[in-house]
Amino acid sequence: MIEKVLTYQETDGKIRQIEKQLNDSESKKRGRQFSAYLRDAEAAFKKMEQRSKELNIMLNGLTQSFDEKVKLVGEYEKNIDTSRDLEEINYLRKKIDDLAKVLISVDKDVKSILQEIEEISKQYDSYRDKYPMARKQYLECKENFEKEKEARVPELNELQKSLKKIEKTLDPEILDTYQKIKGQGIYPPFVPLVGSNQCGGCQMEIPSGIVANIDQKGYIKCDNCRRIVYKTKV
Ligand SMILES: [Zn+2]
Repeated sequence: MIEKVLTYQETDGKIRQIEKQLNDSESKKRGRQFSAYLRDAEAAFKKMEQRSKELNIMLNGLTQSFDEKVKLVGEYEKNIDTSRDLEEINYLRKKIDDLAKVLISVDKDVKSILQEIEEISKQYDSYRDKYPMARKQYLECKENFEKEKEARVPELNELQKSLKKIEKTLDPEILDTYQKIKGQGIYPPFVPLVGSNQCGGCQMEIPSGIVANIDQKGYIKCDNCRRIVYKTKV
């Protein structure tokens, strides 16, 4: 009984290996990198667009406020020229001084926004220059990977067929046990007993009370890694 499930496991292992080889292939790896770059670039484009809109609105507001204040300074100056009232002239001069301070601050804000716009523009150009090449390389990798995958299809089909064939001869309970362990991400699910009491999967010692049952059923369960431990024939 155990021999059949071991053949099943071996065939299943070959399929897993091909899948792993494909997944680890250079074209697949590089394709993943380019795909990540393209995703990042698209997210960056969106973010830059949004920020540019915000900055433009801010810039328009500041420019308008700057113009209004400059106009006001002009009016105050005109009033100073025509006024004869010293107190009024002093008051207007004070107002102009205050406005000058505000204008300096607005000017600083405008400069800082312009600088950010310039930085965004540089970043945008850099992405825009690299994007088409990255996309081309991504498509090449994808195409190469498809070819690599295609080349392994006959082999995979053959293995799948054998697997199905062996599956029919297996005890449903043992197959179910196999699938359940594998489903937990544990592979291989069936491992030999090493020495007199060691699990061939996790290398932990199995208590003698459990090992004692191995002759009766042909296999036992490792409580540590949950694998099925079978006895190899001497
Ligand atoms: Zn174990």
